Amino acid sequence: MKFETKAIHGACEPDPVTGATTYPIYQTASFEYETAQEHSDVFHGRKFGHQYSRVTNPTVTSFESRINLLSNGLGTICTSSGMSAISTALMALTGAGDHIITGKTLFGGTHYLFRHVLENFGVEFSIVASTDVSAYENAIRPNTKAIFLETIGNPKLDVPNLKAISDIAKKHNIPLVVDCTTVTPYLLDAKTIGIDIIVLSTTKYLCGSGTTVGGSITDLGNYDWKNAKSDKIKELTKKLGEMAFLGRARRQIQSNIGSIMAPMNAFIAALGLDTLSLRMEKHCQNALELAQFFAHHPKVKSVAYPGLPTHPDHAIAKAQFGNRFGGLITIRVGSKKNAYHVIDETKLARTLVNIGDTKTLVAHPQSTIYRDFTLDEAGELGAHEDAIRISVGLEHIDDLKADFDQALQGI
Ligand code: PLP
Repeated sequence: MKFETKAIHGACEPDPVTGATTYPIYQTASFEYETAQEHSDVFHGRKFGHQYSRVTNPTVTSFESRINLLSNGLGTICTSSGMSAISTALMALTGAGDHIITGKTLFGGTHYLFRHVLENFGVEFSIVASTDVSAYENAIRPNTKAIFLETIGNPKLDVPNLKAISDIAKKHNIPLVVDCTTVTPYLLDAKTIGIDIIVLSTTKYLCGSGTTVGGSITDLGNYDWKNAKSDKIKELTKKLGEMAFLGRARRQIQSNIGSIMAPMNAFIAALGLDTLSLRMEKHCQNALELAQFFAHHPKVKSVAYPGLPTHPDHAIAKAQFGNRFGGLITIRVGSKKNAYHVIDETKLARTLVNIGDTKTLVAHPQSTIYRDFTLDEAGELGAHEDAIRISVGLEHIDDLKADFDQALQGI
């Protein structure tokens, strides 16, 4: 089945009890068993079943199966947020004294997680220019346990060559973890490229309507955990085979720190999967047209959008994402005052820091998400003082152009 068909029919089992075609919300903390023996068998994994919703829940499992199918994965775990997907995956792969190489242009929250949490627990980081392929290889140390990066750095909107970086990771037997939030499995065939693990903030395009915070981790089955650098995961392969990473992430990390997705959130976010392909096509189409409009607008100093042929990573993005370039644009308008003016004057575009909503959203990244960075640091990540990040929605393109035009005219 093609992506669009799988998104609607694949892994969409009707409710086994009532036949309801939409998988129901199992709003329960725990699950009851007839006998103590059966209960114990479930805990030991001798019998399939759910024990407690901090570990698994049928509604969440249904959403996990659907994301997994769309990603061609080995298995997927949903988490309470995109941030908890990143933290759970990296805590499963590393510990005190280990080292992670990360691309520089990351979501601000991910930088804060590295600086304020994981470093505090003794994990070391090397931050390299996201698109500099050789920098990843040069940063490798004997204790490097993961390479982490994003598909389209936001708000800089640079695009690393994922195949080249995955070749380096493979050569050195280091798991490659990629945050695919901005492209989703619809725009990127991460498994074929050679990525080992993808993480998503399902809050964004997957859910689609900005209603529900959530995240996911998918093991794509490309990494041989029997030869893992992590002793803990290697040890688990004796019991769990190829599922060792997921076992560590689910049973040892997620269940114990409690970074689980609520059943209600899984239900709501799963509704978004049905229309993901349609929405992504439209986000990309609108964003390309709006970027072209900005490129010719006299009040716009510069436009970052990988779909413009002038973008330095245009060719890589075109090949990686099937001639589509995502729904994010960053424009620069000369000063912070001008940026605030445009944000305040747009009528359709809403002022908030989410992305991937049906509605067009605008934000001033430097004074919000990157507020704790120095101006130089924020600028290196694309969050210049005069930059506006736009998450392009699904409105009619003429209305979007008119809205931004009237706001820009006033500067
Ligand atoms: N990854 C990326 C690329 C993001 O843009 C975000 C949030 O904006 C996150 C992760 C964090 O996701 P969440 O807000 O669901 O925790």
